[in-house]
Amino acid sequence: MKPLTEQEIRAAFVNCSKGEAERLVVPRDLADRPWADLDYLGWRDPRSPHRAYLVAELDGRPRALALRCPSPTPAQPRRGMCSMCLTAPSGGVSLMVAPRAGKAGQQGNTVGTYVCSDLACSLYVRGKKDAGAGARLQESLTLEEKIQRTVANVAAFVANVTA
Ligand SMILES: [Zn+2]
Repeated sequence: MKPLTEQEIRAAFVNCSKGEAERLVVPRDLADRPWADLDYLGWRDPRSPHRAYLVAELDGRPRALALRCPSPTPAQPRRGMCSMCLTAPSGGVSLMVAPRAGKAGQQGNTVGTYVCSDLACSLYVRGKKDAGAGARLQESLTLEEKIQRTVANVAAFVANVTA
């Protein structure tokens, strides 16, 4: 994805207030992120691991989501499958819940999905981070097709939150 600045990321939040978007923690090492290998940028708030954030492009524009992780650090990582990249990483997957954008979110409507706990889907798909033994499906898809699928899954989630 295209590299983003802190200002662009803060302006891209769709499901929290402007004040929250100004205050929330954005990674300080944005310039060093492997943007060319990212289908989305995801991170957790190091001081509040119940909070995670995700930025992806939808229709050519960056959209950012504020997420809640009800159980951020389980003693036994949940070895489920990530809905975004279809990996079952040894580090586990976490339920990530996004309030819907706008009025629906204010009324308590949320969308939840299981995502790699470290939000490193893009790197797992590309084999740039080891997901552990048996973490990846045996598939006949090409790397490009797997990347396309991950991008589509992330876009569908973002679209669901903003709908
Ligand atoms: Zn994943």
